[in-house]
Amino acid sequence: MLEGARVTMAIRAASLIAVIGAILLGGPWAAGPADAAPPQTRTPDDFPVARDVRLGGDENETRFVVDFSQKIDIRAFTLANPYRVVIDMPQVTFQLPPKAGEKGRGLIKAFRFGLVMQGGSRIVLDLARPARVEKALVLDPVNEQPARLVLDLAAVDRDVFMRMIALDNRAPETTSVRRPDLDAKPGDTRPLVVIDPGHGGIDNGTRAASGETEKALVLDLSLLVRDRIGKAGKYRVIMTRTDDSFVALAERVNLARGQQASLLLSVHADALARGEGDAQGATIYTLSETPSDAAAARLAEAENRADVVAGLDLSAEPNDVADILFDLARRETKTFSVQFARTLMGELRNATRLHKDPLKSAGFRVLKAPDVPSVLVELGYVSNKQDIKLLTSEPWRARTADAIAQAIDTFFSTRLAGARRN
Ligand SMILES: [Zn+2]
Repeated sequence: MLEGARVTMAIRAASLIAVIGAILLGGPWAAGPADAAPPQTRTPDDFPVARDVRLGGDENETRFVVDFSQKIDIRAFTLANPYRVVIDMPQVTFQLPPKAGEKGRGLIKAFRFGLVMQGGSRIVLDLARPARVEKALVLDPVNEQPARLVLDLAAVDRDVFMRMIALDNRAPETTSVRRPDLDAKPGDTRPLVVIDPGHGGIDNGTRAASGETEKALVLDLSLLVRDRIGKAGKYRVIMTRTDDSFVALAERVNLARGQQASLLLSVHADALARGEGDAQGATIYTLSETPSDAAAARLAEAENRADVVAGLDLSAEPNDVADILFDLARRETKTFSVQFARTLMGELRNATRLHKDPLKSAGFRVLKAPDVPSVLVELGYVSNKQDIKLLTSEPWRARTADAIAQAIDTFFSTRLAGARRN
């Protein structure tokens, strides 16, 4: 055992909701100097800075150390399927070496870090095998040493790991947070469009060789689309995120359902790993139980991993695709989804390159609202040289945002005309 320390902090599974609850209830993250500026006016320089990270040890005992500019409060807990350790902390600015987290050591396969919501950051360690957190604390700065987060892991077998989780878990809080700015105004009957930029915060999505992240590219384009639809005044628009925060997949779906949206458009960018060949162009996806091809199945699996990447506990998530497909409401939803996908393809054709097979379907979790027509667009491949050039070009972004806004308008005009005929 590393330094023979006993674990004293609570290890518990927590959903994002529980995390949000902890903040609202004045958890450790809420603490801060009384004269601190409100979070929205703070710049990255105002937050504690994580400057360096080190790993030590072997497959039985591994130590994870992060240097911070000041002492912070942390909370660590473990998750199964896959085995992970999640470390929650107040919002920090990560200034770690560029490749930090890509390779691990000992019990830690890899790790990621980032914002999980405004005010809260998170580090997620992917474990090579089940392990127990022996110690998780932040040491005061001493002499030349900065404040240090020290997390010690010791290997355990799966039975012990699962027992540990069962014993330590309490029922998660179910505090739900309503974002007041997202509420529809009463009496406003214009169709509501939800624009959903994929990923965010700790979840980067795919990454180009040149460093651009999917989360940033798709947020940028989504904001342009929002401005274009909003300006016309015919539709109400809400976004699932407008900044670099993480939003769970279910939360995106629930937002669209809760607001009785008429359309959800999820915006992403794909990538092929090195050695998997090259592909290019935009692809438009709708929901189906059976994927249209192997590439669509691979992509849905990758996109559905967002919550795992961000360190969410999915053990309580119902696996409800099959049931939903029997829902009668869904048949109409599916028809509208496919109709919008076709319209979007027609408009995008004029603005950008399409994939050779541009209309596909698979089991994307973000498309599973049974009562909201939902479509996911992969704008292109960040792994393709020409695509990434387009994705990062101003004129391309402008005309692609125009095309998407036009597709939304055409979709509703056709729908409304159809409704009047009936
Ligand atoms: Zn994505």
